[in-house]
Amino acid sequence: MNYYDVAQICLNGHVVTSMAQSSPNFQQKFCNECGEKTTMTCQSCDTAIKGFYHVTGVIGFYDYEKPKFCENCGSAYTWTERQQNAANELIDFSEKLSETEKEDFKASVNAVIRNSANSNVAQLKFKKYISSAGSEIAKGMRDIFVDVVSESVRKSIWGN
Ligand SMILES: [Zn+2]
Ligand SMILES: [Zn+2]
Repeated sequence: MNYYDVAQICLNGHVVTSMAQSSPNFQQKFCNECGEKTTMTCQSCDTAIKGFYHVTGVIGFYDYEKPKFCENCGSAYTWTERQQNAANELIDFSEKLSETEKEDFKASVNAVIRNSANSNVAQLKFKKYISSAGSEIAKGMRDIFVDVVSESVRKSIWGN
């Protein structure tokens, strides 16, 4: 029988284990990376967070990618929200962007996180604003988004 395990993830987004159900001994109450509380369910609707996909007869590992949104209720998981808030705060720090540009930048961050239909435009804007917001902001954005955006997007924006 093929089935999804349950993932345990800290509220900042560090994956503790993608097999919290089948290997409960991997569970931790707190994150050993950052000390934050861990969770196995959506904070809004209590649905279990999808973990490793077990396939009968196949023993193998793949890179488990943590979800950004709950597939049951659509809420952003806490780590996604925090990433977005951190990006917004950083944008507010920029002295080189006007208020209108800041709002537009935030909207593009939102679309990039959501990978939405207009995300190509959002990516272009994101890139444009990152380069005009100054190198401090660009560096901060990289730290926040390094494991959120796809590799191709990352390379196109930051070059590595
Ligand atoms: Zn953590
Ligand atoms: Zn939910």
